[in-house]
This record gives sequence, structure tokens and C-alpha cells, in this order.
Amino acid sequence: MLNYSVDAEGIATVEFDYPGKSQNILNAKSMGAYAEAMRKALADPAVKGIVVASAKQDFIAGGDLAELAGATDAAAFHAAINDWHKLMRGIELGGKPVAAALNGTTLGGGMEVALACHHRVAADNPKARFGFPEVTLGLLPGAGGTQRLPRLTGMQAAAPLLMEGKRIKTAEALKIGMIHAVVKVGAERTAARQWVMDAVASGAKPLQPWDAKGFKIPGGGPNTPGGMQMLMAANAMLREKTYDNYPAPKHILSCVYEGLSTNLDTGLAIEARYFTNLVMSPVSKNMIRSLFFGMQDANKLASRPAGVPTQKYTKIGMLGAGMMGAGIAMSTATAGIDIVLLDTSVAAAEKGKDYARKQWGKQIARGRMTAEAMEALLARIHPTAAYADLAGCELVIEAVFEKREIKAAVTKQAEAVIGADAIFASNTSTLPITGLAEASVRPANFIGLHFFSPAEKMPLVEIIVGKATSDATLARSMDYVRVIGKTPIVVNDSRGFYTSRVFGTYVSEGMALLEEGVPPALIDKAGLIAGMPVGPLALADEVSIELVHKIAQQTRADLGKAYVERAADRVAAKMVAELGRLGRKSGAGFYDYPADGPKHLWSGLAAQFPVKVGADSPCVPGIPLRGQVTAMISLDEIVERLILVQSVETVRCLDEKVLRAAIDADVGAILGWGYPPFRGGPIGWLHTLSAAQAVAALDRLAAKYGPRFAVPQSLRDMAKEGKSFYA
Ligand code: NAD
Repeated sequence: MLNYSVDAEGIATVEFDYPGKSQNILNAKSMGAYAEAMRKALADPAVKGIVVASAKQDFIAGGDLAELAGATDAAAFHAAINDWHKLMRGIELGGKPVAAALNGTTLGGGMEVALACHHRVAADNPKARFGFPEVTLGLLPGAGGTQRLPRLTGMQAAAPLLMEGKRIKTAEALKIGMIHAVVKVGAERTAARQWVMDAVASGAKPLQPWDAKGFKIPGGGPNTPGGMQMLMAANAMLREKTYDNYPAPKHILSCVYEGLSTNLDTGLAIEARYFTNLVMSPVSKNMIRSLFFGMQDANKLASRPAGVPTQKYTKIGMLGAGMMGAGIAMSTATAGIDIVLLDTSVAAAEKGKDYARKQWGKQIARGRMTAEAMEALLARIHPTAAYADLAGCELVIEAVFEKREIKAAVTKQAEAVIGADAIFASNTSTLPITGLAEASVRPANFIGLHFFSPAEKMPLVEIIVGKATSDATLARSMDYVRVIGKTPIVVNDSRGFYTSRVFGTYVSEGMALLEEGVPPALIDKAGLIAGMPVGPLALADEVSIELVHKIAQQTRADLGKAYVERAADRVAAKMVAELGRLGRKSGAGFYDYPADGPKHLWSGLAAQFPVKVGADSPCVPGIPLRGQVTAMISLDEIVERLILVQSVETVRCLDEKVLRAAIDADVGAILGWGYPPFRGGPIGWLHTLSAAQAVAALDRLAAKYGPRFAVPQSLRDMAKEGKSFYA
């Protein structure tokens, strides 16, 4: 756990060395060992000073999230945090110089251990990052980070680290004063030891800046005019960005304001309370479950079928060099894989490569890529119109037009060239994979790889397993998704698969609200207040109302009598067929898109969908109500509808085995369509409410708004038996 030694000159080295792990982890055990070692060194008269170091490649990359996620006893947790504070104050005021030798990445709890040393020397390690990622998981740096960092660097420099979880490189850490010195890799321990020796020789009592007489916060404290201004702006910006859905950055701001208004010890006591509150909150539990453990399992390919050797990829074929094809080509080339980019003509294929050149060109302009690096990547993309060029591809992905006949034709042409073992994948967004596989001569090797737009940026790939898809094809496809650095979720075949199906309910609910006569500005604002990245009407414009209309028509044709018409179908038909407003791509949808200014709601909308429902919300004043108001709705109910309509459809996906696991639903929603992480995901949110409360809410909504909110039997059973989705 920890190595302890004292050299001939009385310098103790306390070295973190977590057993059985490649990284050091801070938890009750390792902190216990650290406390024991430090107390021993401080009490031993033979020890003159202390160097804190790491036996791993990095210093300490963070705390034990399983321990935090599992904490349920607030009083015990609060007491344990206060013990950490006592230990760290004991080190700071112990009278012996303590220096940290930071050989690599130092994050979260590791940074707090370092900040509680008198001196920090870092190795000039280009891979090292420093910071406090806690906020990204709904937490705050709870071992003094919100107090020590701004006292060291000033509030302004500390803000992006604490409030956004920004990780910085060695040079910047030095510049803002988070570390004291940078030395050659491998020289950090010697340099730290030298500082300790010098401090011992000086005979002065080592003190942290905040314990020295006359200490002033760099740049001024919270009650100076500059500090006031900064905190007021930060508060307003936070509210604008998060609608108060995320308690962590708010609590961090409170810790800084309240804690820096007083002395360090009182500040630490304040921080301990806010930290305990966050650790106990469902928000941090949701974020840790989905964003950390769920994503970690997905990225480790936890659900990959066993016994299939890992597939190496050297050459991949991309059919269709449009928006999606070009993006997938970029991601593939970036992973060091050659990609044959095929379209109906070489000129059309070149267009896809031009897109890549343009996007990477932007990276160069921002100083994030060199021209040579771009040329090397472009050299991997081979535009063509000749199917013969696909020979030797381990995988071919099609992203041609969303037409069954075209997809069938390109499948046949590609399969005539590629090896018997090669995989053929479709990037269709709506067409069932089992149906598309009928065009294939080896349906076992046929699979769905559903990317999101823009494909070069979006982190999720929804892998769709058709009826005939083999386990080996699934396993090898998962290898590809990981190699290009994306996160896979695996789903079974169904109309709209998982992501399009559930994401569609959010857009449809917005359109239903519009048809009911709820003011459109309120509908979209409610979406943002719910935590979604874009309101449902604005989103319909983005994906195109025409697409919503086309999918409705196709589904109606496919299902015949079984099809149940929805409000969204009528609204989309009216917008597209009657009014010719197709969405953003046609410059006209629910919004207008003037060339010389920002978009705004279409002024003709009120005539088409007269406002009939008033909103009784104090939060959204100034919504103009035109027309006759005949009913009222609360903002809370709009938010509830926009969120629960997604959850209930997700439960149906689980019941129908479209989804294989609840956590896939949550990870997929957050990465796929920006579902608000504070809710955990569509299932995470039901878990947060509890099954019983979710059933009560859905029963109420179903009685008022119809069967789309009807409670699935599985959820009702869960409520009755007092069970939950997650442990
Ligand atoms: P797009 O229109 O931008 O590109 C399609 C490309 O396919 C065009 O370059 C076209 O020339 C080419 N093409 C058409 N017929 C061809 C053929 N016979 N042989 C070779 N190339 C041919 O479309 P897109 O947005 O890139 O979508 C492509 C596929 O990806 C569709 O199936 C779509 O449903 C799916 N998809 C799209 C999105 C999205 O947001 N755009 C997201 C996920 C999936």
C-alpha cells in the first residue's frame, strides 16, 4: 500500500504503491496507511523532513469512486472527511518540511494530498495532467481542494479547474502556482529532497502560505470588489448553463465564497458539509453509475461475446462519402486504419475526403494539429468508385441513401469482392437490420453500426444485432468500435432500434404539446430546464421535420391497421406537406433562420397552432399568450412529460429485449442524444424516483394524456415488490 523509508540524513520517503493496481487509488485503506506513515514520520525525532512520492507511473489519479458511490451514512462519512482534514492540517503545521514529488498525473484526491504538502516538484512529463475532475461526476474536491487551490492561485485561476474539472498540463500548473518547480523526468524526487534539505538547513518553520502571518488571497478574496464581481458573474453563468440541475458547481462556488471569507480551518469545515451533501445526493450517484462505471464497462467491452479472438483492423471500406461516410472515415483514419471511401463517382468520393480536409484544417488553425499530421491522416483515405478496391477489407460499412433497394445493391456489390470472413455493416438509422441482411449472402456477418452525427465527434455507436448476426461478428465489430475510440452499446433489432426510438419520443412530446396549444417558447424552454441540450421543437428542426414526417409515413405503411396515430404525426404532416416548412435544412421549420441574425420562432406558428394553454410558472415570465386560454399547465408537468415519455419507452425497450441491460440504456442516452447526466439516464431517472413514485406519476399522465404514458407491467411489478433497477 505504502513504502516507508528514512535515509542517512533523516529524510523520510513516503511512497504510495497501491497493491495489484496500475494506478494509486485514494480510499479509506490507502489514506489510513498514509495517515499512519505521516504520523510516524512527524513523531520520529530522527526524521527531519519528508518526501511524498509514488511508485507508479503517475502520482495519484483520483479517489475510489466505488467507495463514494456506496456511501450512505452521512454522519459517518462527514466524520471520516474531518479525519482527513485533521491529518492534512497536522502535516501542514507539523514543523517538518514536506515536499511532494509528482512524477505524473495528479488528479482529485491526489492533488489534494499534494496541495497539503509545503512544496510540489513535478516531472516535465508531457502526459501528466493536474486538476480536480470531481465536478464532472457531481462531486467536489472534498479534502480541502476548494480551499487550498484558490488560496494558492487566486479565485480566477482556480475557477475552471474546480467548476469545470479542467485538467491542465505541467507548464500551466507551474504558471498558475499550483506547483512550485518542474524538473527533468526522473529528477523530481531528488529535487523534492533537495528542497526539504534546504528547508531543514534554513531552520525556519515550514508553513503553507495561508498559515503565514499577513496572508492575502492572490488577486483578492470574495469580499473585495474584484472577487465580488467574479463570483456574481460565475453565479449567473452557472444558472444560465445548468438551470440549477447540477448541485456540484453551485456547492463549489459556495465553498469558495463562504470558505474564503474566513480562515482555512473554518473553510475546511464548510467544505466538509457541502461535500457530504453531494456524496449523499442522487445526482452524484447517478453520474458515477452512468458516466464512470457504466461507460468504463462499455469501453472495456464487458458484454463482448467470449472466446472470439480480438480482430485487428488494417483496411476498412466505406460505402457512401456523404456526411456520415466522411465522418466515419475520419474516425477510422485517426485510428491508423486505411479506409477505402467509395461513392458513385470518384468526384463524389473526393467530396468526402474534402470534408475531412476541411475539418482537420480547423484543428490546424486552432493549433491542435500539425499540417504533417493531417497529411498523414488524409493519406489513409482512398477515394474511389471501383468496388474492386474493397478487396482485403476486414470490414465494410455502408452509409448510402436510406433506401432499401440502394442498400441491397451496394451490399451485393461489396460482398462480391470482400473475403468470406469480412463483416458487412449498415449505418442505417431506421431500417431493421434483419430485413437489410436479406440482401446478404452471409447474414451471419451482417450487423448494424449506427453512428451519430457528426460521426467524427460523437462518442457513441449503437451496435444492432440482427436475427442471423453471429456472436463472432458482434465481438469483432465491438473491437472496431473500440479501436476508433468510441463507446459501443449493443441492442437487438427493432424499429428505430433503441436510440432513435426513445429520442423520437422527446421530439414527439414537444410536438404534442404544441398541438395542445402550449406556447412553443415555453415548450423549448422546458426542454432546457429539464436538462436536455436542445428544446424538442428546435431539435425537430435540426433533425428535420421532414424526417419525422417520413418515418411516420413509413411506420404507418409498415404497420397498417396496427398503427396508432400520434399528435406529432399530424403536426409534422401539417408543417411539411401543407406549409412546406421542413426544418433547418430548408431554412424554415418551427423556427425561422434569417441569414443576418439568430434563429427565432416562426411568427406564423401561432396562427397554425393557436395558444390555448396557459402556464402557471413563476420561472418563465414573459411568455406572450396569444389567443384564448382555456386550460393551464404547470412548467413542472411539461418537464415531467418530456422526461418520463423517454423513460417509459425505454422500459418497453427492456421488456421487448431491444435493450440487453438497463445501464446500456443510460449510457446510450447520455452519449447518443445528450440526455441529462444528472438524472442518470432514462432508467437512472426512474431509479431516482423509485419505481413506486414513477408508477404514480405515469398513471396520472396516462389518465390525462393517453396510453403513451401507460405503465408497463414490469415496472408495476417492480413497484409492488419494492424492487429497483440498480442495487
Ligand atoms: P448523405 O446523403 O449525406 O450521403 C449519402 C452518400 O451516399 C452520398 O454521398 C451518395 O452519393 C452516396 N450514395 C448513394 N448511392 C450510392 C451508391 N449506390 N453507391 C455508393 N454511394 C452511394 O447521407 P448521410 O446523412 O451520410 O446518411 C447516410 C446513411 O447514414 C443513411 O442510411 C442514414 O439513414 C444514416 N444515418 C444518418 C445520420 C445523420 O444524422 N445524417 C445518422 C445516423 C445514420
